[in-house]
Amino acid sequence: MSENILEIKDLVVHFETDDGCVKAINGLTLSVGKEKTLGLVGETGAGKTTTALSILNLVPSPPGVIKGGSIELDGKDVLQMSDKELEHMRGNDVAMIFQDPMTALNPVLTVGEQIAESIMLHEHIPMKDAFERAKEMLKMVGIAEGRAYDYPHQFSGGMRQRVVIAIALACQPNFLIADEPTTALDVTIQAQVLDLMKDLINKNHMSMLLITHDLGVVAEVCNDVAVMYAGRIVEIGTTDEVFNSTRHPYTEGLFDSLPNLKEQGEELVPIKGMMPDPMRLPEGCTFAPRCPYATEACTQTVPELRQVGGTHYVACHAYDDPSFRLRRNANG
Ligand code: SF4
Repeated sequence: MSENILEIKDLVVHFETDDGCVKAINGLTLSVGKEKTLGLVGETGAGKTTTALSILNLVPSPPGVIKGGSIELDGKDVLQMSDKELEHMRGNDVAMIFQDPMTALNPVLTVGEQIAESIMLHEHIPMKDAFERAKEMLKMVGIAEGRAYDYPHQFSGGMRQRVVIAIALACQPNFLIADEPTTALDVTIQAQVLDLMKDLINKNHMSMLLITHDLGVVAEVCNDVAVMYAGRIVEIGTTDEVFNSTRHPYTEGLFDSLPNLKEQGEELVPIKGMMPDPMRLPEGCTFAPRCPYATEACTQTVPELRQVGGTHYVACHAYDDPSFRLRRNANG
């Protein structure tokens, strides 16, 4: 039996628009281990959310087209599932938490009713019993049971995200996809919500794909991390491998531009330039126009992921030169 709950291989997703083809995902390969949390990191426009939608087979079509690759969730090929199988998977096996809790909640139903609806659908029990269970779920995410009768607008942002987490967990999924779950929250509340998620994931033996642009969040919550750039994974490994033996110039750039991960007194260095237009991706390595280590070879062929350590993989031509070192590791 596979040790992974999610395995994505060579996924290609494009959007055929009137203005041209948006190449959102361009040969993405990654896996999430059972009972592990993988952080999927990258700047806006890297293709992180399209990856999440692909896992749920929810890429809007048209204009979206899954052009190739496979996505296996717990051994089942998501891209080959019938509508009925997909519906079952989305209600039972996988749940998703979005960035903005307000858009995920129905403003005209109490939060208790919304959690109870999810429980009813999953367990086919009467509303009255489901509502009692909903109160327990609220308690589990640190909200008093009595608040089950309140409406979403009566809660703060952090509390609303806790309600969304309760709804997501109500159907007891074994896999959770969280897309920037704390980005819309105050910094102090972010830490509380992340702690809660980490705790619930461990207690319920779940696995999670955590999408974020914030390496600080990854350090806090994730066992493994995948760094995404222009629709491909450029570096993947355990959090320890990627943080302490960084191998990709883009990952190095992300670290250098993060104030909270820099030692005091070190200068912040933003990555120069912008993510390429997905309608006009450069030939070869798509990071080459921004990369301080780029050579002629980089602009000619796309670098494949290669193993550089235990579970550590990197896609970068610089490692054809055995003496190559990132600045970050120059003394290591
Ligand atoms: Fe930089 Fe070349 Fe590596 Fe791309 S392949 S990240 S351009 S060194």
